[in-house]
Amino acid sequence: MALPSTYADRNCSLARALEIVGERWTLLIVRDAFYGVRRFGDFATQLGIPRAVLTNRLKLLVREDVLTRDDDGEYRLTDKGIELWPIIRSMMAWGDAFYSPAGVKRALRHDDDGGLLDHEGRCETCHQVVAVPDTRIEPGPGYVPTDGLDPISQVFSTPRRLLDPVR
Ligand SMILES: [Zn+2]
Repeated sequence: MALPSTYADRNCSLARALEIVGERWTLLIVRDAFYGVRRFGDFATQLGIPRAVLTNRLKLLVREDVLTRDDDGEYRLTDKGIELWPIIRSMMAWGDAFYSPAGVKRALRHDDDGGLLDHEGRCETCHQVVAVPDTRIEPGPGYVPTDGLDPISQVFSTPRRLLDPVR
């Protein structure tokens, strides 16, 4: 269900963007796609999202060309979808800064040289802005280990490159 559109929204691209990614769950689905989730059942397991809601959100994201659905039924980010990464990275950094006193929950590194990425995605070692597929994500100091994780969350708790399929 789209957010109510107002006259003022017509000249605000933030309002337009929120119609796509502003609904509850949607950015979490996109985040999981960056983490390598591709299958409906894996999104459902990891997010604990009602299946009907997941179906609707995935349909919206495919219709808006954020995700594609392959013939094998797997969902992958499009180039347009991958351009959402800086938003997700920034929101994670904001959450870490203000709601994670023990430090970042997930550290981002340049997979080639292990350099930490700054808030703009630039590697502290080679000073390049690191492309999404070359970004490694791993538990940081603020990460809280949890018992009884589902299999997908277990994969998320180990260092891995973005977009590498979880299975
Ligand atoms: Zn580097």
